[in-house]
Amino acid sequence: MTATIIDGKTIAARLRETIATEAAALTAAGKQPGLAVIMVGDNPASDVYVRNKVTACEKAGIRSTESRLPATVTEGQLAEVIRELNADPKVHGILLQLPIPDHLDPNAMIALIDPDKDVDGLHPVNAGRLMAGLLGMVPCTPAGSLLLIKEITKDLTGLNAVVIGRSLLFGKPMGQLLLGENCTVTQAHSKTRDLPGICRNADILVAAVGRPEMVKADWIKPGAIVIDVGINRMEDGKLKGDVDFNAASEVAGAITPVPGGVGPMTIACLLANTVKAARSA
Ligand code: NAP
Repeated sequence: MTATIIDGKTIAARLRETIATEAAALTAAGKQPGLAVIMVGDNPASDVYVRNKVTACEKAGIRSTESRLPATVTEGQLAEVIRELNADPKVHGILLQLPIPDHLDPNAMIALIDPDKDVDGLHPVNAGRLMAGLLGMVPCTPAGSLLLIKEITKDLTGLNAVVIGRSLLFGKPMGQLLLGENCTVTQAHSKTRDLPGICRNADILVAAVGRPEMVKADWIKPGAIVIDVGINRMEDGKLKGDVDFNAASEVAGAITPVPGGVGPMTIACLLANTVKAARSA
């Protein structure tokens, strides 16, 4: 079998077009969606991510602002910036770019963001809403991954889904989203026994570990949908996913590449969350 390659770049571009149309309609109605990005310190990787997000906003007609704070900022000063953005009616989404310096508690800072402006979906209220099946802000990478799965199969009812990884940022919300789609979900992690055996039972296999090519072709059920979330930078500078892509694509029914799979969906879903926040503001 040769798998269908799930082209995240094209799917994300399509989503961004829809978002731009919605943003234009909101702007015409006097409510241009606005995203505020807070960056603390000078992390070069974060700098690239923030620039990409700001550029994507511009292209979609979303107003964006950047608050750049020195690495020495105190929790009190950062809290004040968050409070001001919470109160600003032109700001519909607030994103605290992680990581932040060690003397700042990321969870405490995220908890200060108005949950309705928490476009990263990391506030405990939004995690609770997701678990309760209520409308809320869903973290961008899991939301994007679900959209990719649904490009292949609309109805996921009764399918066995295995998510490798249980982080707050990805693994846990991904499991909740799949449960919401009526999948039978197994949440695997570093203490899981017989991971290959568990994966072989998956109709949908999502890998979010951060170990290059850990998932082998003989872990994959023939015909399965495989979503590779891992981003691993190799010594030669190239990116590899968590799945042994070439061998796996001979077994899977559909698979995301790295790069060009899940990655482009993350920013598109951030824009979607910002527009959603503006719509309901
Ligand atoms: P993380 O917080 O480090 O979580 C990794 C998870 O993998 C943990 O739950 C860990 O289990 C599990 N794990 C580690 N070794 C394992 C093993 N040998 N077998 C099974 N499970 C194992 O990472 P994350 O933030 O979720 O990100 C995971 C990957 O996705 C990274 O490569 C990251 O760069 C990528 N990512 C990509 C995007 C994107 O936009 N494409 C967005 C977010 C993340 P324990 O809980 O037991 O430690």
